[in-house]
Amino acid sequence: MNFLEERILKDGKVKAGGVLKVGGFLNHLIDITLMNKIGEEFKRRFEGQEINKILTIEASGIAIAAITANYFNVPVLFAKKTQTVNLDDEIYSAQAYSFTHKRTNTIVVQKQFLSKGDRVLIIDDFLANGEALMALTSIVEQAGAEVCGIGIAIEKGMQPGGDKLRSKGFKLESIAIIDTMDSDNNSIKFREQ
Ligand code: 5GP
Repeated sequence: MNFLEERILKDGKVKAGGVLKVGGFLNHLIDITLMNKIGEEFKRRFEGQEINKILTIEASGIAIAAITANYFNVPVLFAKKTQTVNLDDEIYSAQAYSFTHKRTNTIVVQKQFLSKGDRVLIIDDFLANGEALMALTSIVEQAGAEVCGIGIAIEKGMQPGGDKLRSKGFKLESIAIIDTMDSDNNSIKFREQ
């Protein structure tokens, strides 16, 4: 069992409806020592990919992406879920249905920050149905840039996102893949990697 799987077993809470709560260490209160290990692990798994930018989605992807970016020494771009006055009209956009919030978000990235020639590593905390990731890959494609890899902290393998992205040929690496989880007894089973 790896360091993240151990932590999920220790502090993760399985909720009814197929939701895993990891707010005590990953996406509410953030354990920076754990984040650094995640960043190091992504650096190891995507070694040699010549990445020049990391892309994620607000809000909970930002912490993991920022710490990972430190290991690659590249900037982090995050897709916004709300269109603010700070964004001009020159944007790439895509739609993603949120598994946790049960609504469709339009996510946007300002065109000046992503262009042809960029070699992008996409990072996020969770992969469930793959909606958020598909929207991010669409934005990279709209820019004419290249997705060099996708790094996920926790993939819920019982939902279709992972299979969908792998079948499209993306190099997808998840540090922990959950095959089954049960809210009755808080049990979680991980896929052997
Ligand atoms: P997807 O688009 O793959 O269905 O879901 C990805 C997004 O939903 C992630 O960015 C994450 O914020 C959220 N998410 C999906 N499943 C879970 C879950 O079980 N627990 C938590 N905390 N977030 C989840």
